[in-house]
Amino acid sequence: MSDQAARPRRQEQEPAGEDVVEVAPGVLRSQLPISMPGLGHVNCYLLEDDRGVAVVDPGLPTKASYGALVARLKSAGYPLSRVHTVIVTHSHPDHFGGAGWLHAQTGADIVTHRSFRLMWDPTEPPDIDVEDVPALTAELDELDEPLEHVRRFPWENTPWGGPGVEVPFKRRLWFRAARALPHMRKMPVPTVRLDEADTISLAGRDWIAVHTPGHTDDHLCLFDPVEGCMLCGDHVLPTITPHIGGMGTSRDPLGAFFASLDKVAAYGPQVKVALPAHGHPFADLAGRAEDIKVHHQGRLDKLRTTSAELDRPATVMEMSTHLFSPRAQGGMADSETFAHLEHMRLGGEMQRRSTDGAFEYVLTD
Ligand SMILES: [Zn+2]
Ligand SMILES: [Zn+2]
Repeated sequence: MSDQAARPRRQEQEPAGEDVVEVAPGVLRSQLPISMPGLGHVNCYLLEDDRGVAVVDPGLPTKASYGALVARLKSAGYPLSRVHTVIVTHSHPDHFGGAGWLHAQTGADIVTHRSFRLMWDPTEPPDIDVEDVPALTAELDELDEPLEHVRRFPWENTPWGGPGVEVPFKRRLWFRAARALPHMRKMPVPTVRLDEADTISLAGRDWIAVHTPGHTDDHLCLFDPVEGCMLCGDHVLPTITPHIGGMGTSRDPLGAFFASLDKVAAYGPQVKVALPAHGHPFADLAGRAEDIKVHHQGRLDKLRTTSAELDRPATVMEMSTHLFSPRAQGGMADSETFAHLEHMRLGGEMQRRSTDGAFEYVLTD
């Protein structure tokens, strides 16, 4: 039996079901299909009130996902015209995907945290000639061969001097078109940006904005003190640990993540049901937040012992081979290792030097 077959499928990997189920008063869980490493669906919650319905995390920016979303709304009894609000928990494509289209078709508000920002900033002027963009966009679904002139994105030029993440050509092209002509690709532009502790009326009651940086800098959770619900996006997932990478704009994303886990855990006693973006709703938010913290503390311990055993400076890529299994190696693993090493450096435990353009880390004496 292969290792893959021996491991039970986690709930976050389940393919998207078509049913729409009430999981808290006025809160329906629907699932949209995604195909990403370790994930089979994204939960798209529908929050019902007198005005119609608010949609949380409307899936990937693909026609198939949008079609599934329209079908789920219909099966819940909502034509598109009744969507008045779209909440986007954070700036990942499986969460913001349908937001721009919903806004274009219904005029619905797009609600995010104040700091919401796409991986590229859509307010920046395009960095290729605008004349070239329609051609690139038209070719999007046809080209399989890489074009050399499609410039690499920042996450492929890593701060630590490693090879970075391999992004498939079609996806690179999509990102380029989305960045160059955000209106054409229906990239979401928030109409309501929430600050910490702001409230918003959803499902007929007020929800409190809880900024939870870590997985992304702009991650937003929403807490409903009346029914004890927490919309927790990718911040706390039921059985898998969210990716904490070092390629964003934060100096210490892991430190921020720890603080954000403590923040939602403090709501724990009041939370009856946590509503994650992947997997099933669950009850013990504080316990799950603690488990995720312990997981990352174990990685920090592993880096401490590895560095002590090596007894010399080592690159992020080398440290990563000690932290992750061979099948997990690559740019994403390096990015997560970098986030952990930087957390230790900023805490004074590690020292960093740069050799031949690559960072090397060694324990502080
Ligand atoms: Zn995410
Ligand atoms: Zn996600």
